[in-house]
Amino acid sequence: MPDIASKKRIVIKLGTSTLTHKTGKLNIRRMNNLVQVLADLHNAGKELILVSSGAVGMGMGKLNITKKPDDTPSKQAIAAVGQCELMHIYDDMFSKYSVTVAQILLTKHILTNGLSNVQNTLGKLLEMGVIPVVNENDTVAIDELELKIGENDSLAAMVATIADADILIILSDIDGLFSADPHSHPEAEVIPVVEKIDSKIMEMAGGAGSSLGTGGMTTKLNAAKIATDAGIDMVIMNGKDPYKLYDLFDNKATGTVFLAKGSGNN
Ligand code: GLU
Repeated sequence: MPDIASKKRIVIKLGTSTLTHKTGKLNIRRMNNLVQVLADLHNAGKELILVSSGAVGMGMGKLNITKKPDDTPSKQAIAAVGQCELMHIYDDMFSKYSVTVAQILLTKHILTNGLSNVQNTLGKLLEMGVIPVVNENDTVAIDELELKIGENDSLAAMVATIADADILIILSDIDGLFSADPHSHPEAEVIPVVEKIDSKIMEMAGGAGSSLGTGGMTTKLNAAKIATDAGIDMVIMNGKDPYKLYDLFDNKATGTVFLAKGSGNN
């Protein structure tokens, strides 16, 4: 097991299902607990970068829209409303602990063409003691032309790579990677450590989960590939109990750890 307690630069991906109830409205208790733990880790000297989904989910909640529309202008308009709300909530909740946050909206184009600017800005924000909150710029990203990343698991892995992070943590609505689909196989167990993402591991992934988010286990394994190839350990764990992050940083086994390439056994 890697020494997670010693990891300093941490990218944490927060999925829509972690931040909101099924109604699309904010899960206030969970967010309060989460922000408290994150502010505490920040105070303990960790450098945090959040990759947060929720723009579309929260926009839907705010506009009382229950079914995600199919057309691009509606989705982009909803994201514009939700992103604003999302950052307002982070800003408000973190300010209770005197922690400053910043918004970074990225596109696939920027990630492939303007990398050094993003890198420099992330570095400067961390130096200033600020927590950057990253999302895809859903209001301008165009999915028809395949110019959109489309899900934040991969975005988080790309951010971890460009920020030269020590670890990527994906908070999800499942406990980790299961040996089989836990819905149809109640005996399935969480795999604590994955040394290598081979075809057997890829087969364990099912389809996308919640109706508000976009990812599933497949996108998480793709993210794990990007991160571990770049020499970064990755953890998938359940975001429903944010206090479990303390266990993780106390080196107590939590969720599934994907070992960085070149870390010994792979
Ligand atoms: N960027 C999208 C949002 O903020 C989420 C993408 C995802 O769920 O992975 O709503």
